[in-house]
Amino acid sequence: MKIAKRIQDLAESATLAVSAKAAKMKADGIDVIGFGAGEPDFDTPDHIKQAAIAAIQSGQTKYSKPASGIASAKQAVCDKLARENNLNYSPNQIIITAGGKMGVYMVMQAVLDPGDEVIIPKPYWVSYPEMAKLAGAKPIFVAGPEENAYKLSPSTLASAITDRTRLVLLTSPSNPSGVTYDPGELQALAEVLENRDLMVLSDEIYDQLVYDGQESISYASISDKTFSQTITLNAGSKTYAMTGWRVGYAAGPTEIIKAMSKLQSQTTSGAATFNQVALATALTADQSVVRSMRDEFQDRGYQMWKRLSAMPGVRCPKPTGAFYCFPNVSGTFQKIGVQGSAEFASNLLEQANVAVVPGVAFGLDEHIRLSFALSMAQLNTGLDRIEAWLTQ
Ligand code: PLP
Repeated sequence: MKIAKRIQDLAESATLAVSAKAAKMKADGIDVIGFGAGEPDFDTPDHIKQAAIAAIQSGQTKYSKPASGIASAKQAVCDKLARENNLNYSPNQIIITAGGKMGVYMVMQAVLDPGDEVIIPKPYWVSYPEMAKLAGAKPIFVAGPEENAYKLSPSTLASAITDRTRLVLLTSPSNPSGVTYDPGELQALAEVLENRDLMVLSDEIYDQLVYDGQESISYASISDKTFSQTITLNAGSKTYAMTGWRVGYAAGPTEIIKAMSKLQSQTTSGAATFNQVALATALTADQSVVRSMRDEFQDRGYQMWKRLSAMPGVRCPKPTGAFYCFPNVSGTFQKIGVQGSAEFASNLLEQANVAVVPGVAFGLDEHIRLSFALSMAQLNTGLDRIEAWLTQ
């Protein structure tokens, strides 16, 4: 049977693949510690569930009208962006999407033509390059120095820009590196980008999961120019432990939001109506649940970072956001007899029953990604196993 070339060329999501393999081992009765998960281990808070149940019971079970999102959800997003991100959008600059991933996909479909270039900082979230290719565009990878957790310097960014650059991706906090750009660093990148004829996709899906009392700062909030060149993307998924609900949102210039809405009306017809009600509740209700999940992530993240940093041959940037550590483990490769991160992860899973995601999936083969979205007890057991495996 003939499969279309663009799908043949598409890589499978490595993060989902690792979770699936670990899940199968668990189903076979093997005691696996999974550091692969890209989702909170917390349950969706009850008040959010109750809002969806009430919406279903009151008959909000029909098509989203309009497909770009119901008015109350768009208003809740405007209020959130004003309150937490210092961004003043009007509802016609908002689209509610069927998950953050669909939002990223639709931005790329809306702004990219074949031959356009997309600047993707390494390490990157696995789906960016594949989505750029699906739009016919060419991913251009750039990375800052490892000593600065690969964050882009203005000069590295500037040297990657050509006449064909149409879109630049910024992800802070980062999946997979768990680091954040501070306001000064973002400002310096803005000085490179704001006078150019290109768009910026600022993926802020982890914006509320930042540690040590940092403020989240949105790229679009830096100046009027950055505001008009940016699509700000977010979702319920990570902040409210709503990954299975498939509800996200994007905010940006009206024309781009209109283009995305047209695409959405011809594809998903929008996010499930009652899930949009749940998102609106999540965004407008008391945010203390978010703070308590964040504090728990911070404790686990620091514990993981401390322990990884003490292991021989392992170098790890301190996570300042999201729920990932992204250590460089290449100093162990010779000792354990592996060539790269895929072999490292595969041996670790088979020999020590610990699942991690190989860094090659994020563009850096010397690293692995460990999620700290699991209990402190499991986290310590998993790290005990890694330590024993590395020092055997
Ligand atoms: N952007 C980043 C950086 C992510 O890490 C993820 C999920 O892992 C997404 C977008 C997509 O999130 P969602 O589950 O809402 O589709």
